[in-house]
Amino acid sequence: MKVKGFLKDVGGASRVTKARLAAFAGASSRPETVDPIADVARAWHPGRLELKVTQIRPASPTAKTVRFVRADGQELPYFYAGQYIALEFPMGSAVISRPYSLSSAPYQARGAEGFAEITVRRSRGDGFVADYVNDTLKEGDTVFGTMGCGQFYYEPLRDSKNIVALAGGTGITPFVSMAKEIAHGTLDLDMTILFGSVRSDDIILKEELEACAGEHVHIVHVLSGDEEGWTGERGFLTADLIKKYSRGDATYFICGPQAMYTFLRGELEKLDIPKRRIRFEVFGTPKDITAFDGFPAEEKDAVHQLTVVRGIHEDVIPARACESLVTALERAGIRIQTSCRSGECGLCRTKVLSGHVFVCPEGDGRRAADKDFGYVHACSAYPVSDVKIKIPIL
Ligand SMILES: Cc1cc2nc3c(=O)[nH]c(=O)nc-3n(C[C@H](O)[C@H](O)[C@H](O)COP(=O)(O)OP(=O)(O)OC[C@H]3O[C@@H](n4cnc5c(N)ncnc54)[C@H](O)[C@@H]3O)c2cc1C
Repeated sequence: MKVKGFLKDVGGASRVTKARLAAFAGASSRPETVDPIADVARAWHPGRLELKVTQIRPASPTAKTVRFVRADGQELPYFYAGQYIALEFPMGSAVISRPYSLSSAPYQARGAEGFAEITVRRSRGDGFVADYVNDTLKEGDTVFGTMGCGQFYYEPLRDSKNIVALAGGTGITPFVSMAKEIAHGTLDLDMTILFGSVRSDDIILKEELEACAGEHVHIVHVLSGDEEGWTGERGFLTADLIKKYSRGDATYFICGPQAMYTFLRGELEKLDIPKRRIRFEVFGTPKDITAFDGFPAEEKDAVHQLTVVRGIHEDVIPARACESLVTALERAGIRIQTSCRSGECGLCRTKVLSGHVFVCPEGDGRRAADKDFGYVHACSAYPVSDVKIKIPIL
């Protein structure tokens, strides 16, 4: 039986070959220019885009929302509510990248009038790009960006339709995108958002969020500041508070400042929530890498030599131990592709040819083989000796 089946297959294959040869013989010698599959792939993943800022408006006393469209007038690529955009900002001779969650909804990006938005909070004096966006970026400017990045979105095969969102400060932005999509009827979920802010007069995107509240979106504001007259919830997002507002078998989405991640891990543990039901957005660049276990204390203020190999080209630049390899490259005006700046996406995967780096334990998204063969994600690797690396030419 098997032999017969095999012979049938061979016979079939030879007939296909004859048919193909006939098709080749009758085909035009001019190259085929229409490729509908490639067109769809390009529309979904157009890569790095030039974007034009069309509107900047306040999102709170300390934050601004920036709206942009494609500079070439084409439609923006598709993204999932919850994903981020990696934006590049020209600063002097350098190009600095930062990830920002999209605070607009996917449906708002569709059509000729489509747009996307980010909401960025000013720093407390130690910032760089956040203050550039708030003080210098203006309508009409163009920036480059790659959008539809990250894994922080509802995935029906994995997540419950009942979402509890735990947000702190600007960590609300991905949930605003989700809430808008739910309120618009294009995302079929129930979402309860526990939103921690410090003061009631500085709640980011408050009006836009409230406009989405309804049957499927519930918002609970929680103030950590000691404010008179506030009748809502107070304090941090504790286990008791999370339990009070959780119903049934929920998936917990968490986005906020780094200190909140550490705190919430402990609180969620108290509630015995299975790990598969807990989704953290990526950690971001640590505020202070020297505070992590394993970072050599004597390296705190050290500056090393970083040799950067690109093809046959070699540069030697200074690199602070307390800053990532990506930051050292950006300071020196050397371009490297980055997206998450959290060690997750791997876009800045780099070969370490010699020397030692400390890899941030919160951002070690490397594959096992990469660890064995001396690769790091440059956004989460910190030089603790003179180091030589090899990066692609951009
Ligand atoms: C997935 C994700 C989503 C995010 N979404 C949002 C959001 O919706 N809204 C929001 O406000 N934030 C968001 N963030 C945080 C955002 O990416 C930035 O970290 C934040 O805006 C602060 O940026 P900053 O440059 O001002 O400060 P930092 O990121 O803290 O950068 C300061 C650092 O820049 C470096 N630096 C200083 N000078 C130079 C120089 N000359 N050249 C090169 N480097 C230099 C130094 O290392 C310094 O410590 C998100 C982060 C992640 C990971």
